[in-house]
Amino acid sequence: MKAIRVHQTGGPEVMRLEDVPDPRPERGQVVVRVRAAGVNPVDTYLRSGLYPIKAPLPYTPGLDAAGTVEAVGDGVSRVRAGDRVYTGWNLSGAYADLVLCTEAQVHPLPGSITFQQGAAVNTPYATAFRALHQRGRALPGETVLVHGASGGVGVAAVQLARAAGLRIIATAGTAKGRDLAGEQGAHHVLDHRKAPDYFRTIAELTGGRGVDVILEMLANVNLGMDLKALAPGGRVVVIGSRGTVEIDPRDTMGRDAAILGMSLYNLGAADAACIHAALVAGLENGTLRPIVGRELPLRDAPRAHALIMEPGSFGKIVLIP
Ligand code: NAP
Repeated sequence: MKAIRVHQTGGPEVMRLEDVPDPRPERGQVVVRVRAAGVNPVDTYLRSGLYPIKAPLPYTPGLDAAGTVEAVGDGVSRVRAGDRVYTGWNLSGAYADLVLCTEAQVHPLPGSITFQQGAAVNTPYATAFRALHQRGRALPGETVLVHGASGGVGVAAVQLARAAGLRIIATAGTAKGRDLAGEQGAHHVLDHRKAPDYFRTIAELTGGRGVDVILEMLANVNLGMDLKALAPGGRVVVIGSRGTVEIDPRDTMGRDAAILGMSLYNLGAADAACIHAALVAGLENGTLRPIVGRELPLRDAPRAHALIMEPGSFGKIVLIP
């Protein structure tokens, strides 16, 4: 089969399309024929070699895919050959014709969801669900600020929050991104390039009380101001950060506020099973509708990695083998 391979860490150009042996499922494993693979920012961090978590070299990048089950190993009972599935991480890398998974890593993909959309489910939606519900403990009727709502995680967070009965203030850096956040269910959409003015608007929109939960995509830029935008008992969930930031700890004290980190790498099996049960239900009932902004052929993985780090996000980028 064809697969993107990384033999040494570095820039996007270190990714090459190569021939590699087809994976074969051992006991409890599933091979999925990849119809689309999702591109996530973490794929670029791992490829760069500058991330605390290191991929063993050589490797095939890619955490997320959707396709059909090609073959199953002994003992697999939840899926069979031909089933449509999306994968929640994997054993061999998703930027390939075939991907090897454990049985627990494959989830049913409803017929109403395309493979491209299926490739946009796992990391973004699992992250958004974890941040909103398991870490942020957002409740119906509360107000959430989705700080960075135009990309993969942000779109997922807006849809999940809307389905859960929250009031949503969302931000994006372009008019196209703001339109997207509004279409996906945000009640108010602001421009995060207009700091600090838009924080004044957040205060106005909440009658001066502040927001209950913030899902933060760029904490190194926003955390200091986020803490001032929180309501009493407010929680900021740090989803993304690309550097350091100065905060005033007193902003947490006066509000009994909490800063909660999260990494999908820390997700245990029980929480993962809970998340994917909720995501499959949301895909089935139509409240979750992954947005694919761009499709590229698998060989263009280097271009996809350059694009995902540029501003002006619009949903997900997926690769087509
Ligand atoms: P993405 O699709 O590239 O989207 C990036 C988002 O960040 C866009 O909405 C972008 O908005 C927004 N952004 C840019 N400048 C911002 C600012 N000043 N304030 C607020 N938001 C801003 O990436 P993604 O997949 O959604 O992931 C978002 C972040 O979460 C990334 O840093 C990623 O590494 C991280 N992440 C973490 C976990 C975890 O386990 N902790 C899991 C998944 C993702 P515009 O482009 O419209 O400006």
